[in-house]
Amino acid sequence: MSLLMSPAVQVLVQEIEEQNCRLEIPFCYNPNHDCEFKVLHYPAGVIRNFGELWPLSRAGGIFYIQFMKDIKQELTAWKGRKVLMVIYPHPDDETMGAGGLLLTAKKLGWQTVAVILTKGGAGQMHVHPNGRTIKEMRMAELEKAASILQIDDLVVADYDDGKLRQHRSRWEKWLKQQIIKYHPAWIVTFDHSGISGHPDHISLSLALRKVSAKLYWTTLPQDLNLGNKELFKLRSAPTHILKLRGIGLKKWQAMKAHRSQKLPGRVALYRFEWYHEVEPRKKYPHKFVEFKI
Ligand SMILES: [Zn+2]
Repeated sequence: MSLLMSPAVQVLVQEIEEQNCRLEIPFCYNPNHDCEFKVLHYPAGVIRNFGELWPLSRAGGIFYIQFMKDIKQELTAWKGRKVLMVIYPHPDDETMGAGGLLLTAKKLGWQTVAVILTKGGAGQMHVHPNGRTIKEMRMAELEKAASILQIDDLVVADYDDGKLRQHRSRWEKWLKQQIIKYHPAWIVTFDHSGISGHPDHISLSLALRKVSAKLYWTTLPQDLNLGNKELFKLRSAPTHILKLRGIGLKKWQAMKAHRSQKLPGRVALYRFEWYHEVEPRKKYPHKFVEFKI
């Protein structure tokens, strides 16, 4: 291996070679960057590693190393306008999708804005409403989560939950106005898989494809399979990772604030968030899969 490698990667390479496996290092690897990386075991199965290096399997095959940049470093080094805008369809998406990123950006002196397109009226109620409507409950929960995540500006519209795909002409103009108003440097939303496959997530991701800000998508590593196998194939590979060290508890508290929703508890166990840096000219596939709202 003639490539210059960081000590961590050298150890990895040695382990792989001891197992008589082949290693492919992507051309983007730069040993001078403190990159996080993960190991995928190909072709048989995957190694669950939650973004960290995991002891390698003894089985033969090819190991691919996928390097991820530290998104906190990108936020720190950013020289332009420091306005981060996360845009999601439902109350709770901001916490699940980018709770850690919002907290991190705020700590680094960024202005943080969360734009939520619906009040979550189609969500399920898992607690007693005490005379309140689901929208009222979810708005109160969202405000509590936003205060835990120290969001500077929470902007909520009341478009129909579950119908963003059909009503795109109704909300698209409004959304453009929010982007013009705040003029964010970074915009974050879900990738084209929608992560859960919710059509609102996918519609919004499609609508935000051509924004004039740097665009990142919330995504998950290939080995974290939530639900539908079809979605799994449409998911964009993470290019960036965020370590939740020191802020994981706050994110968990924000998740708990959305108490009417049964949020997947295992997400609280992830010690990372993952993002895909969208390439402006690249074609990303999408598909509306069957989804029960
Ligand atoms: Zn959602």
